[in-house]
Amino acid sequence: MKKYFLPLFMFFVFETVAITLWLTKDNLFYLLNFSYIGASIALGLFLFIKKYKHARRVTQLLVGMYMLIYLGVIQNENMQIEGFWYYLFTGVFEAATIHYAVAKIFGPLVFGRGWCGYACWTAMVLDFLPYKTPQQPRKNIGWIRYVMFVAAFVFVAALFLAHVGNIERIMFWAFMIGNLLYYVIGIALAFLFKDNRAFCKYICPITVFLKPMSYFALLRIQCDESKCISCGKCKRVCPMNVDVTDNSRKRENGTECILCFECVKNCPKNAL
Ligand code: SF4
Ligand code: SF4
Ligand code: SF4
Repeated sequence: MKKYFLPLFMFFVFETVAITLWLTKDNLFYLLNFSYIGASIALGLFLFIKKYKHARRVTQLLVGMYMLIYLGVIQNENMQIEGFWYYLFTGVFEAATIHYAVAKIFGPLVFGRGWCGYACWTAMVLDFLPYKTPQQPRKNIGWIRYVMFVAAFVFVAALFLAHVGNIERIMFWAFMIGNLLYYVIGIALAFLFKDNRAFCKYICPITVFLKPMSYFALLRIQCDESKCISCGKCKRVCPMNVDVTDNSRKRENGTECILCFECVKNCPKNAL
C-alpha cells in the first residue's frame, strides 16, 4: 500500500477542501468540483505508479477540459488572472477566487507547481507540441511575466475606476479572447524557441503567484546522492530546466518544477 501513498494523500487533500467548502459555503458545487479534481489527480498518479506512459496527460485532459469548457465557457467563470482580480475587487469569495487560493496561492505550499503539470488548460495544449524537452538554452526574458501580471491588474482596475457597465460580460469575453491569445502566443513561442513550455517560462503571469509559494513546497523531487552517478540525464529530459540533483530549495530553476516525473522515469539509477 505504501506506493499508493501519494495518490491517496492528494485525494485526501482535495476531499478535505471539498467537504470544508461544501459545509462552510453550503454549496454542493464545491463538493463535486474538488472531489472530481482530486479523483482525476489521484487517477493520474495511480496510472503513473502502474507505469502507464501517458498518466499525467490523462489528468491534464480531465481537469483542463473540465475547467476550460465547463467552468469557463459554460458557467462563464473567468479563471484567468483578470477574473481573480475581478472577483477580489467585487469582494465575492466564489469559484475563481477559491480556485486561485487552492491551486495557485496556498496549494503550492503542498504540491508546488502541480497545477502546471496536471491541470492547466493552456499547458494541456502546449504539451501536445513536438518540443517536449527544450532544444535551446533558457532565455533571459522571464521579466515579461511581471509585465503581464501588472497589465492584467491595470486592465481590471481601469474597468472599475471608469465605472464601466456590465463588467461580468466583459470578463467572459476577456476569458475567451485571452485564452485564444495565450494559445496563439504559446504555440508560436514553442516553435520559435523549440520549447513547448516557453510560454510558461517567459510569459505566464500566474507564475508570479506560483513561483514564490512553490519555493516552500512540501512535495518535491529529491535526489539520493548515494545512488546518483551524475550522468545528467534528468536535466536533459526536464522540460523546465530544473537542476534536480541539487536537493536545496535554491536549486537552479527549482520553483519551475511542474512535478511531471520525467526525470524520475528517465533516471537510470532510480536516484530520484
Ligand atoms: S506556467 Fe502558466 S501556462 Fe504554464 S502551466 Fe503554469 S499556469 Fe499554465
Ligand atoms: S539521471 Fe539519475 S543518476 Fe543521472 S544525474 Fe540525474 S539523478 Fe543522477
Ligand atoms: S523533469 Fe523532474 S525536475 Fe523537471 S519539471 Fe519534471 S519533475 Fe520537475
